[in-house]
Amino acid sequence: MDIHEYQAKEILAGFGVPTPRGGLAYSPEQAAYRAREIGGDKWVVKAQVHTGGRGKAGGIIVCENEHEVLEAANTLFGRKLVTHQTGPAGKTVYRLYVEGAVAIAKEYYLGFVLDRKSERVMVVASAAGGMEIEEIAASKPETIVRSVVEPAVGMQAFQAREIAFGLGIAPAQIQQVVETIIASYKAFGELDATMVEINPLAVTEDGSILALDAKMTFDDNALYRRPDISELRDKSQEDPRETRAADRGLSYVGLDGQIGCIVNGAGLAMATMDMIKLAGGEPANFLDIGGGATPERVAKAFRLVLSDENVQAILVNIFAGINRCDWVAEGIVQALEDTPVDVPLVVRLAGTNVEEGRKILTRSGLPIIRAATLAEAAERAVAAWQNSQKHNVKIVVAS
Ligand code: ADP
Ligand code: MG
Repeated sequence: MDIHEYQAKEILAGFGVPTPRGGLAYSPEQAAYRAREIGGDKWVVKAQVHTGGRGKAGGIIVCENEHEVLEAANTLFGRKLVTHQTGPAGKTVYRLYVEGAVAIAKEYYLGFVLDRKSERVMVVASAAGGMEIEEIAASKPETIVRSVVEPAVGMQAFQAREIAFGLGIAPAQIQQVVETIIASYKAFGELDATMVEINPLAVTEDGSILALDAKMTFDDNALYRRPDISELRDKSQEDPRETRAADRGLSYVGLDGQIGCIVNGAGLAMATMDMIKLAGGEPANFLDIGGGATPERVAKAFRLVLSDENVQAILVNIFAGINRCDWVAEGIVQALEDTPVDVPLVVRLAGTNVEEGRKILTRSGLPIIRAATLAEAAERAVAAWQNSQKHNVKIVVAS
């Protein structure tokens, strides 16, 4: 789960990361009021949307008086911000963060990620801050400092100092940077984060260290024990398809293709998407219904996939170990009785109770295209989709 910049800043500040004074606004008037409250003579009005690259997309506006703050807020509220991370749909601005503008001497990048290879938290830092990490990795890879944290001892002061030295931080700021690194690491670990990013971490003209931007991502599987973090969820920033899935406890990722997938097991779901691509199609989603899926759960998954307007064919691929093919079949029948499907449906069942499952499908008399193997299922789904495209009618193959 992602959170907003202002929320990440509040959390990190609680752990001791220095941040500028700022305030949240839901209206232009409130934004102007926030500027007055903060004081000073220069402010930054920042769109709160779950994406990086807001600056380049016009989502960060520097203002020199209250009137400018009001104007900036007027242009930003309700706007769809399109960045390289949002896709063409963009993300709508409903909240603004107004912050005192600081005079920046230098910008650094400071990130904490889970490194799957070393199975450790890894600090990734660079003196080329302000740019996205992908950009830094492409154009200035020599500036990147990496450091892996031993979980048994946590982030040590000497290790944080090494990172600061690696960045070329001046002696006067070393201590502040070390404290920032240790505080961020603590926040990462104590709150079950999977990513913390401060970009830029700025050295100001007067020699202080400030986090000017902050991002945090949390482990969805740990949210049950972090009610305070769960509350920070902002559904307006999520793909509505994924919100619906999360609310129903399904593991779903929305994609741009036309072939809806209903699969049990994350690995099999990935393989199914690969096979669809290999057969010349594009998957509309990743969906893992999990092991031991009840008919109700399968029906839920069906309704979710069908609610996506882009879906023009559906592929159900079940390899039942813990699962039972008869349950899945019942779920399919149940779902189709409630919500008639007007797109071709391909089903491949294998494993536990497969015969019972097949019988249920046959007995239902539903127009289901059967397949014996995954390759066959993918090919049939893509062929059925292409056919229906060509004739603009659905192709029904009696089972
Ligand atoms: P994004 O990464 O989404 O573009 P940032 O919050 O990093 O958004 O802002 C973009 C740039 O704007 C920063 O790299 C920094 O140069 C500048 N900036 C952001 N906040 C402030 C601030 N409070 N004072 C001065 N400059 C700022
Ligand atoms: Mg940034």
